[in-house]
This record gives sequence, C-alpha cells and structure tokens, in this order.
Amino acid sequence: MGKKFTRRDFIKATAVAGVAAYTLRDLSSFNTMASPGFSGEPVVISTWEHGMAANEAAMKVLSSGGSSLDAVEKGVNVSESDPEVMSVGYGGRPDENGTVTLDASIMGPDGNAGAVAFLQNIKNPISVARKVMEETDHVMLVGEGALRFAKAHGFKEEDLLTDKARETWLRWKQGMSDDDDWLPPREDHDTIGMVAIDAEGNLSGACTTSGLAYKIHGRVGDSPLIGAGMYVDNEVGAAAATGKGEEVIKVCGSFLVVENMRHGMSPQEACEEAVERIIKRHKGKPDFQDAFIALNKKGEYGAAAIQQGFQYALYFKGENTLNNGNFLMEE
Ligand code: ASP
Repeated sequence: MGKKFTRRDFIKATAVAGVAAYTLRDLSSFNTMASPGFSGEPVVISTWEHGMAANEAAMKVLSSGGSSLDAVEKGVNVSESDPEVMSVGYGGRPDENGTVTLDASIMGPDGNAGAVAFLQNIKNPISVARKVMEETDHVMLVGEGALRFAKAHGFKEEDLLTDKARETWLRWKQGMSDDDDWLPPREDHDTIGMVAIDAEGNLSGACTTSGLAYKIHGRVGDSPLIGAGMYVDNEVGAAAATGKGEEVIKVCGSFLVVENMRHGMSPQEACEEAVERIIKRHKGKPDFQDAFIALNKKGEYGAAAIQQGFQYALYFKGENTLNNGNFLMEE
C-alpha cells in the first residue's frame, strides 16, 4: 500500500494542474468567539405572549451559565407542556380529523440540526428533535417513525387532545356546510419560535407547533423545516418564524433573515426584508399573517410581521417584556 493521499496532497495537486486551489474551513470546532460588540449578557427572544413564560425558563438556564441550546429547549418545553397554549404541544388544536400532530426543529451553534414532523402523542416534540440531532446522523424524522424513535428514547406516549381543544374542533366542524366542501378558515396558529445567545456568545434556535388548526391530515408547515421555520448560523445570527407556514417555506424565510444579516443588515432590517419578500411574491393584498424574530452575534434583536397584532417576548438586559412587532401592511 502506498502513502495515503491526503486533502493537502489533493490541494497541492490541483494547484499544480492549474485548477484554482482553495483551503476548506476547518469545521471541527465551531466559532466560539464572542462578537466584539457582544456585551456577554444573554438575550432570549420568542414569538407571541406565551413566549413570556418560555423566556423565563430559558433565561434561568442562561443565567446559571447554561448553553443557548439547553435554554431554547427548556424554554419552549414550557409552551409545549401548557394545555392553555392551544397552538403548541399538549392541548394544541387538532387537524381536520381531530388528531393533534406536532412539528418541531432545533439547531445549535455547531450547525447541527434536528427535527420531527407529523409527530403524534408526544408532548415535547422539541426534545425528540434534539435527540434526532444528537443521537442520529439524520436531521428529520416524521410520523410513525418519529413516534417509534421517541418511544425508544423513553418518551411517554399520551393523548394530547384536551377537552378544550376537542370542543373548538367540533365547533369548527359544525361550521362546515352540508351542501358543499367549503371549509371555514383554518385560523388560530401561534407557534413558539425562540432564539437565544448565551454568555459565550453562542446562538441556538428552536421552533415547535401544532401547526395550522384543522389542517388537512398529514400537512407539515414551516416550523420543522430547517431554514424555513428556524435557522442558526453561529457566525452571523439566528431567526425563527411564525404565521402561515406555506408562505414562509416558499421564501426559505429564516434562512433568508440570517443571510440578510450576513450581508450587513441589522436583525430588524433583515426581518423586515423577509416580510416584504413574502408580501411582494403574493398576488394581491395578503390576508394572512407571517412574522420573524432574529438575533445577531452582538445580541442585537429584531422582529417584524405582515399584519398588526404580532407580539414577541424579549428577555434583554435583565428584563422580560412583551412587545408589539413592527408590521409592514397598511390597514
Ligand atoms: N407556522 C406555523 C405553521 O404553519 C403556524 C404558526 O406559526 O402560527 O404550521
């Protein structure tokens, strides 16, 4: 056996042959350098009012020196487990058949990602997504396979449809006509997306949802799709989305927000540009809501929505506040 041909040899050989030589970035350790503009104070931002309680849990992790990855998981676990939050996890509104199906994704500063989609009977899909990320070399598991994987990792199977959610579904069904296939609008969808920066300056994101209420059985939204519902690039920033997932998917929304920041936009400008992109590509005035939240490496934040009414929870400089997002559509 001759000497093993290394990557260095390959680069040398291609340079000799006149092919442009280049060096690949060493990805074995991610960039843990805090940005020069970062104060060292952790920041958490998440979508909607239920983000307030989730932020508290996330900041508890961060203020005791925990990682942003642990923080976003523990943070959104709060909304997933709360039956009063009817758009995420346990107590989430079901699909048109009356089945609660959940989507979630998580991404850490090392660029690794995990996701589950169309998962049933598991209260905390974000924690299953984290297991997919850490225990497999896959990114996404769906449906029956995701459930089997979760159970094999010790997650308890349970009925997620609460009486309250069942009643709202029945009321929705009663609005259906006997004469045609017309369905009342599928409304009430408020995912929790959360992004955080820890004291080390590392970014992570999580996104978890029961999706569009009364959706067609099998529908998967943007939330579990890396780059659509959530995206993290630890050299640049992190973003998450909420609202009508179909429109977010079509513009690779969260990836777009992060790329906007890479090209010099502030988190606020980056969110607004992505919202504008959705509005522009839609024919006519959008009658739906979409919104983004973002954080950059300096711990600066931004949030923007299509319509009035979007709120985000921000834990910044020791204070957790509920804020109204900028919106781009005039009434
Ligand atoms: N984006 C979610 C979905 O389409 C719903 C939401 O955020 O409100 O499934």
